[in-house]
Amino acid sequence: MSRFIYLDHNATTPTDPRVVEAMMPYFNKQYGNPSSVYRFAQEAQEAKESARDKVAEILGADSKEIVFTSGGTEADNFAIKGVAYANEERGNHIITSKIEHHAVLNTCKWLEKRGFKVTYIRVDKYGIVDLDELKDAITDKTILITIMHANNEVGTIEPILEITKIAKEKSVYFHTDAVQTVGKIPTDVKELGVDLLSLSGHKFYGPKGIGALFIKKGVKIDSLIHGGHHERNKRAGTENIPGIVGLGKACEIAMQEREKEEEKLKSLRERLYKGIIKRIDDVILNGHPEKRLAGTLNICVKYVEGESMLLNLDLEGIAASSGSACTSGSFESSHVLLALGIPPEIAHSSLRFSLGRDNTKEDVDKVIEVLPSIVKKLREMSPFVK
Ligand SMILES: *Cc1c(COP(=O)(O)O)cnc(C)c1O
Repeated sequence: MSRFIYLDHNATTPTDPRVVEAMMPYFNKQYGNPSSVYRFAQEAQEAKESARDKVAEILGADSKEIVFTSGGTEADNFAIKGVAYANEERGNHIITSKIEHHAVLNTCKWLEKRGFKVTYIRVDKYGIVDLDELKDAITDKTILITIMHANNEVGTIEPILEITKIAKEKSVYFHTDAVQTVGKIPTDVKELGVDLLSLSGHKFYGPKGIGALFIKKGVKIDSLIHGGHHERNKRAGTENIPGIVGLGKACEIAMQEREKEEEKLKSLRERLYKGIIKRIDDVILNGHPEKRLAGTLNICVKYVEGESMLLNLDLEGIAASSGSACTSGSFESSHVLLALGIPPEIAHSSLRFSLGRDNTKEDVDKVIEVLPSIVKKLREMSPFVK
């Protein structure tokens, strides 16, 4: 049995062993509740605050501006619902894009059923939001713009600085879902100019079930979870100390290794892409050719179902992803690929490889070796091939 090759890092990453090691004592040695007064519990309190400092550091933020959450989904919900309800007197209009993660899209849909109005901005064929449409969409009722930093499916990096400029001119809050960028590209909130930013531990080698929301000082926001006075009254509940410590460690490692890692991932990704297009015809690259996350390669292999390729890759010990989800026997195309203007029949043939920290040239070469024969076999069975 050959080695298992994991190429789905945009879905989740393995927790770095250094992160696991940092977390371990907080399960059964320093297990105190940080809200307790005795010295034993204060060790947990200190560990939590030192982790908060590291999260703040990777964002160039003040530690007081960081609130821990149960992950990226909660951070997105908190930002959007929290700002919506705290600023209701000012207006009820929110602007987002068509290619957001469901944590953002379904939160916006939920708010639409409760009297809020949402505009979903179009993107171009590379997945870049239409800035003119964004400008035109702003009204005197607009309270929030929420647009992701980079897209999880195609990896396109959005023009955050331009969006910030537009938001500032109109005094509208700007939230960005940076779950795919923290630890991978610079995410300094002062440079980006954003008011709120979501991140999640398990997308950059931290543990699952922990994330954070950056809330710039002065932003008016309601809490979603009520109870004790945790997190400066912004998010109640006894803190997930092992998770928080792990998130802090993941930030620390990312700050040291991000740049080198980015270079490595980019060269592996280019090797993979070049190897694939050299051996397989009718392959389309999805997402922006340059303004894209280093580890993300999303392609359409015409005339082949993405799911079929995934199953065959799995038999070879390779884990990747496809934009389309098979629900009760019918294929549903990715909302992201459709928003890029890709016709449904081609969007069905998408395949996403997302590379990460432990991947090697050998991993990439294995894909280049096995994918052509998988595609050949599937195309021979396909009714679509001419
Ligand atoms: C994974 C992801 C989320 C959700 O984060 P969780 O921590 O899994 O809840 C949100 N947005 C983007 C862009 C993601 O990739």
